[in-house]
Amino acid sequence: MTIDEFNDKFKEECGILGVFLGKKENVETQVYSGLLALQHRGQESCGISYRDNNEIKNIKKMGLVDNLFEGLKINTNLLIGHVRYSTWGESNIKNTQPLFSNNISLAHNGTLTNGDHIKENLMKKGIKFSTDTDSEVILKVFEEEGIKGIYNRIRGSYGVVIMKDDELIAMRDPLGIRPVCLGKIEDGYIVASESCAIEAMGGSFIRDLMAGEVIKIDENGVSVIRRGSKSINTCAFEYIYFAREDSKIDGISVGEIRTQLGKILGKEDFSNDHMVMGVPDTGTLPALGYAYESNLKYEPGILRNKYVGRTFICPNNRKNKVNDKFFILKDRIREKDLIVVDDSLVRGTTSKELIKKLKKAGANRIHYRVASPIIRCKCDLGINMKNENIIGHFKQIEEIREEIGADTLKYISTEDLISILGKNICTLCFTNK
Ligand code: SF4
Repeated sequence: MTIDEFNDKFKEECGILGVFLGKKENVETQVYSGLLALQHRGQESCGISYRDNNEIKNIKKMGLVDNLFEGLKINTNLLIGHVRYSTWGESNIKNTQPLFSNNISLAHNGTLTNGDHIKENLMKKGIKFSTDTDSEVILKVFEEEGIKGIYNRIRGSYGVVIMKDDELIAMRDPLGIRPVCLGKIEDGYIVASESCAIEAMGGSFIRDLMAGEVIKIDENGVSVIRRGSKSINTCAFEYIYFAREDSKIDGISVGEIRTQLGKILGKEDFSNDHMVMGVPDTGTLPALGYAYESNLKYEPGILRNKYVGRTFICPNNRKNKVNDKFFILKDRIREKDLIVVDDSLVRGTTSKELIKKLKKAGANRIHYRVASPIIRCKCDLGINMKNENIIGHFKQIEEIREEIGADTLKYISTEDLISILGKNICTLCFTNK
């Protein structure tokens, strides 16, 4: 986990997909739809690995899923795919997944906490690595010791799909931090990071994998090769902004949760000349929730430039792009008091620029509302993140308000988050415990 400096958010997601069919079929259209549905989880690069008679074919491209599928025909019964958002290792074609070695392909979403240590030990034994990713550590451990090795040695968060011989294996880390779910299509099965991918492929959702669960899919169907635990600690940010709104994770609708978070914020009294707007895209549903609850008018005064997302291809670009990213409908907000709802706030840089931009466009008072609790510390599963980059680590709410230039600032509380999501979520970066 790192910080996405461009969006001022935690950066973790990648998307994984696995398909097993009873017989070979032309699957490019379905697989395209599945990976496209996961595109929000990674836009830097993408790839697929599939069985083509006795061969494994790997195709990888930088950029969006569209680039990968241009002119592609795939006839297979077994495939895995990945969309990448780099956390370990730079964004380049070498680090693009699925990874492939000794007839095994693997795709991973998550971050390992002991990846460096394991890699060092493996290298001492003469094992060579061809990428800079922690995902390759999982692959090498699997080659050495199979599933048991992954489970016993790897620490951190992982949703993984592995293609080996005629089998598809899927697993979720022992804490259940990253989601993995299982679905059915006519003649086979799909595993994916999110249920929206299963639906996009015309399949039907069966269930989420439990924490630590490992399943195998082959010609005999689905078998559980390691039983999981119902005690799950899904990362709260999956609900706050990582996952797509039409996905369900662990039985909970992501879109519904975002709306409810906004409703919690909306329990306050403002005169009815105030307008509510969301910071696109993931602030939109919380803003609507706020407007329902408060009976204030929702106004889409902040719009997002659809094309700016492509700058993710340059993840190291530190330039503040708020100016390029958002545009303001000036005539709608001029001389108005605004309630601006955002999904979260990490360094506060995006909100500061946005508030400046809104004020310059003529807004009166700006009441900034955040649909997540205040982030107090880095993610325990993180490697490239420092607490000093997190504004809530060293400033109290009033100081943050001053820093970002809002007239008032409110967050939801961790208790509120737990009241709607239940206890099966990780909240460590909010509680600093
Ligand atoms: S500490 Fe927990 S909730 Fe926070 S980012 Fe990490 S996994 Fe997610």
